[in-house]
Amino acid sequence: MIGAHPDDCDIKGGGTAALFAEMGHQVKFISVTNGDAGHMEQGGGILAKRRTAEAKEAGRRLGIEYEVLDHHDGELLATLPIRLEIIRKIRDWNADVVISHRPNDYHPDHRYTAILVQDAAYMVGVPNIAPDTKSLEKNPVFLYFQDNFQKPYPFRADIAVDVTAVFDKKIYAMDAHESQFYEWLPWIGRYQEEVPKGKEERLVWLKSKRFGQVTDAAKASLDKWYGSQKSSQAKQVELFEICEYGTQPSDEGIRRLFPMLKK
Ligand SMILES: [Zn+2]
Repeated sequence: MIGAHPDDCDIKGGGTAALFAEMGHQVKFISVTNGDAGHMEQGGGILAKRRTAEAKEAGRRLGIEYEVLDHHDGELLATLPIRLEIIRKIRDWNADVVISHRPNDYHPDHRYTAILVQDAAYMVGVPNIAPDTKSLEKNPVFLYFQDNFQKPYPFRADIAVDVTAVFDKKIYAMDAHESQFYEWLPWIGRYQEEVPKGKEERLVWLKSKRFGQVTDAAKASLDKWYGSQKSSQAKQVELFEICEYGTQPSDEGIRRLFPMLKK
């Protein structure tokens, strides 16, 4: 999973990552920026170091790898050098599935991360591009994280993963990003006074926030993948849309790649 900031993958795919990890699969999160701008008091190298340490801890809690690339937060552009870097990262991991943002999003870093990953989607298989890393013989399946943006078209819930069983683990991983969930996001969202002081109270509070509720679109997708009886038990869900670039999987192919989807 490739997010713009250290916390994006956790929010959108932390539960799915935990399920994969528990089943013995290898998962890696990459943050394309180092998070060195999104804070009201700290900034620069000190903040980047703090964000990287938080990401590493979140990865440890999920049982996955977490890498933070050293690009400035809030200033990301879809440049050729970063495209080549993303191509190398996907090849080095020999990824079966790559998940990132959609290119319509409020945050420029999310948009350009989306473009960088889309621009890599075909090129990972082209040997003469970044020839110092071996090109992939099999093009990965590329997916988008869920979002609520409506223009030019709304997100489509092609895949729904029931993350109810690992929701506590997901929240615990998010809890590692203290500078985000307890400092920056409450400050910029103007709900700073809500944040409890104690460690346990914070976890309970974070769990009570907005993440993973089952909407009508999510329910329809859950029904498809789990059957309506099983899907009615789902309390938290993560959704993904299939990108038009990269391998186009059949339903059977999706079930092979996401073995947690079972009727
Ligand atoms: Zn972000």
